[in-house]
Amino acid sequence: MATNNDKYEAVIGLEVHAQLSTASKLFSGDSAAFGGDPNTHVSAITLGHPGTLPKTNKKAVGFAVKMGLACTCEIERYNYFARKNYFYPDLPKGYQVSQHTTPICKGGHVRIRTSVGERDIRLNRIHMEEDAGKSIHDIDENYTCVDFNRAGVPLIEIVTEPDMHTAEEAFQYVTEVRKLVRWIGVCDGNMEEGSLRCDANVSIRLKGEQQLGTKVEVKNLNSIRNVKKAIEYEIARMIAMAENGEIITQQTRSFDASNDTTFAIRDKEEANDYRYFPEPDLTPFYLTDAYIEEVKESIPALPNELFNKFHHELQLSEYDARQLSEEKGLADYFAQTTTLSSNYKAISNWLLGPVRQALNEQALSFDALTLPPNALAGLIALVDEGKVSFSIASSKILPVIMADGNKLPADVAQELNLIQVSDTSEIEDWVNQVLNKMPDKIAEYKKGKKGLIGLFMGEVKKISKGKADPKKTTQLLEEKLSK
Ligand code: ADP
Ligand code: MG
Repeated sequence: MATNNDKYEAVIGLEVHAQLSTASKLFSGDSAAFGGDPNTHVSAITLGHPGTLPKTNKKAVGFAVKMGLACTCEIERYNYFARKNYFYPDLPKGYQVSQHTTPICKGGHVRIRTSVGERDIRLNRIHMEEDAGKSIHDIDENYTCVDFNRAGVPLIEIVTEPDMHTAEEAFQYVTEVRKLVRWIGVCDGNMEEGSLRCDANVSIRLKGEQQLGTKVEVKNLNSIRNVKKAIEYEIARMIAMAENGEIITQQTRSFDASNDTTFAIRDKEEANDYRYFPEPDLTPFYLTDAYIEEVKESIPALPNELFNKFHHELQLSEYDARQLSEEKGLADYFAQTTTLSSNYKAISNWLLGPVRQALNEQALSFDALTLPPNALAGLIALVDEGKVSFSIASSKILPVIMADGNKLPADVAQELNLIQVSDTSEIEDWVNQVLNKMPDKIAEYKKGKKGLIGLFMGEVKKISKGKADPKKTTQLLEEKLSK
């Protein structure tokens, strides 16, 4: 299906639900951990039994504020929760506690990068609410089962303005949000486990038109790829409808990952009456400037800030700076190592090259790196001082110091007898050995096959076990071969 048509422009707004990484639920001490045996993280408070009294989780509030500040939102000082009343089997209380007219964070933006450059996607709001439980349809033939473990887990809902126009922008936006929540530690960003879920609102309009078209909402997209695919499908479907003269109606749809299409689950309920009212069991809470300041100070340097620093201050290439500021563990490690070695480019090369490769082989992330930054700095110094070659350092020394964080690279080089030899007489010895073995090749070289120098070099490298200083080796070889 074609995904574009010059006559039309797509308009996309995203609602991302992020489960906050608190130990307990939003209004009770029940565990907020993922999974667990069904209905084991469930107290009378989670079930909303009469006589129980919920209490707001302070940590969850702090996380919501943290995300808001990281997105340059305005923070609402006076906050309260409201009841959103509706019936759903996985909603044990018959209402969801949410923030209705007073989201804790307003405005702000998330900066994204696409193939056509950078853009700020404006946020409408970030509000807090509790998650629902889970209906399970596939373990019993006759009954639907419910697991209330998830009921009451704290969520923030991050809602954009209808600001995006392509599936690629939406893809980048969710990528950025996931990176951000992980970076500041408010959500694990795990879409497979549902810690991060996305609803995509999509409409189309004729290019140049100001008014928004009728939107459909595709619910519960559980991977970033599916966000993109669902939007691509919707845009194409709506354009085809418009071209056929069909009326687009407001719908809630679901994504079918088996064939990358969407299907209607309901036509927009005519003005669902949720009978919102302020939650009478919870006290409103007020956030002081001092508190907001405290949260602000707990926010680590954000990816864009670090990118600018790495690129402009430390003079790394745009690509390297971008790579280094993709993942917090990596960025922190890099920054720490720059205080121990001023060869920033080498630190970057080591981390993005052999170190990352070694971690990948064990399916580990930089958070799990046990190599102390001073060991990496030491290794870089050995190479820079000409004591070991880069290839020896990465193939022989790095694996040892990565496996044992207490070993110093210089000691390993000594122990394994890897220190490069720049002593002329020793290298000359190796060079002679090689040349004596290869009179035919020498003759060919002298007839003009200069490329053979590589072969000689390789032989010297072999018999010296990589220890012959390559510069001196070339020099000596050329000297002898020109005689
Ligand atoms: P609802 O009440 O249906 O949830 P909201 O106005 O709260 O709608 O908006 C929900 C999301 O849908 C927001 O991200 C908003 O930007 C987006 N949105 C609203 N109208 C449109 C539209 N016509 N086309 C695309 N997205 C839209
Ligand atoms: Mg909505």
